[in-house]
Amino acid sequence: MSFLTPPPPIPEDKIVRAERADVVVVGEGLSGLCTALSARECGLDVLIVTASRGPVGRGGSVFAAYSKVLAEHGFEREDLDRFWLQELEGASFLPDQRKWYALLNNSEEAMDWLTDILRAAGLDVVLEDGNRGDRDTPTWMPPCTHAFVGAGVTRAGVGITLAVKALEERFLALGGRVLRSAPARQLEKKGGRVTAVLAETAEGFVRAEAAKAVVLATGDFSANPEMMRAYCPQYAPNFTADGADYDIGFNTGGGLYRGEGHLMALWAGAAWQRTWPAAAMIQGSRLGSNLPYGSHRGLRVNIRGERYCNEDMNGAYTALTTLREPKGRAFAIWGANYARDIRWRAHGGQRDGPDDTPENVLKKWADQVAAGTLKTADTLPELLEKLGLPASTLDTIEHYNAICREGKDPDFHKSPAYLQEIREAPFYGGELNDIRFFTVLGGPRTDAALRVCDADDEPIPGLYCVGSMVGDMYANYYNFRIPGQNYGACLTFGYLLGRSLAK
Ligand SMILES: Cc1cc2nc3c(=O)[nH]c(=O)nc-3n(C[C@H](O)[C@H](O)[C@H](O)COP(=O)(O)OP(=O)(O)OC[C@H]3O[C@@H](n4cnc5c(N)ncnc54)[C@H](O)[C@@H]3O)c2cc1C
Repeated sequence: MSFLTPPPPIPEDKIVRAERADVVVVGEGLSGLCTALSARECGLDVLIVTASRGPVGRGGSVFAAYSKVLAEHGFEREDLDRFWLQELEGASFLPDQRKWYALLNNSEEAMDWLTDILRAAGLDVVLEDGNRGDRDTPTWMPPCTHAFVGAGVTRAGVGITLAVKALEERFLALGGRVLRSAPARQLEKKGGRVTAVLAETAEGFVRAEAAKAVVLATGDFSANPEMMRAYCPQYAPNFTADGADYDIGFNTGGGLYRGEGHLMALWAGAAWQRTWPAAAMIQGSRLGSNLPYGSHRGLRVNIRGERYCNEDMNGAYTALTTLREPKGRAFAIWGANYARDIRWRAHGGQRDGPDDTPENVLKKWADQVAAGTLKTADTLPELLEKLGLPASTLDTIEHYNAICREGKDPDFHKSPAYLQEIREAPFYGGELNDIRFFTVLGGPRTDAALRVCDADDEPIPGLYCVGSMVGDMYANYYNFRIPGQNYGACLTFGYLLGRSLAK
């Protein structure tokens, strides 16, 4: 793994000036900004060094276990103990539980802190709709997703750019400093302690010296093919971004950054996290889904026309199961009656907003037909032909319809609530191929105090990390059951770290 070899030190004559601060935060996404502002509010002198031209964000679903916003909307505090344990179990108990429970225990305080800041900036914090229903199914989500609206943004879950801008404004107003368009290239150590960051600017290298801490917050490593092959090999071929854009926003095309913070930590003596492979965040197709974070819960078949799963799963699981079928392909098939037979909630809606009406659902399908992502036909054989599925799929549909009429699924034991016959023309079908490779989570070994650690689990003095790059926070896959979990962790750990550095 050639990337593990540190580059030669940057010569002194290339360093044009020095900046000094108590804390140097590297990266200006949500995690970096929360850390910087939290520390600044506690009186520390903080410098953000970022490769981007300004604050960066994408999406905008943010988890908090409870909040004043939830209370204002009349939601009781959910008991998440069992759910949290189930999520840990689903991740084979590989994540560091100290961090998982720190998120559960502290996200309310952090969200209330952020809410006050955003409201003062004229923004609104709302509750994003999630998957409802039986909390024992693998689609249920706790009603804990917060989103930011204002300044022309009305859809829930896409307002993070508003939040990071407001955070930066407050940070600057309190006397914080930002060095922009300045990618950090190396860390400097003195007497075993990380003391400075060398950042490349148009005028030359700047030595950003940190009296207390350097906090790495440089996002992910999904656009570094070599690191992907080493730490997340299964999905390495799917992450194809070249990592050249430090301002990358809502990229759904496969990857974000090159893991430069991770590499600097490794060169400074950090060990890689224990969890292998690193957890990928993969969003599956929402075609024909009646849930905001769901996928089609009627009939799914593979290219052989065979049903292959209990369809009651959310989008992330849909992506993973689809990729395991022959040629990585799968299809959803339903009838016009599906629009009326089941309750519809749209993605991007607010928690207390109305259901999607059957008329609107039919209109969306018509739009998708026009866009070519969905096929329709008056007969099932005709539909199968359009989808390129074998005629034997008709047997699968007949068998599935018999199961639906019976209200009992002997094959995959799907809940009767999701057994809707494919009954009324026009019939619809489409390929579940809209799989989006968002990001990869994990990085240097990180303890619960967010200190970056070496192979003996000893903290490297002066070095911390937050955000997507925190080690051993996730395992297996990011499953979207706690939607906005990562931004929730960026917020909570950034807020906590800023406070703790000031102590
Ligand atoms: C399409 C899409 C939608 C998403 N939506 C959500 C969502 O709604 N909720 C959620 O929880 N997660 C979402 N995610 C995941 C999201 O990307 C992360 O949760 C979040 O961005 C992590 O924040 P961060 O602060 O760790 O890093 P980032 O937001 O990625 O910020 C990294 C910062 O580091 C800077 N940087 C990089 N390299 C260097 C360097 N060498 N020197 C200095 N600075 C550097 C970057 O320019 C940037 O400023 C989404 C991802 C994608 C792709």
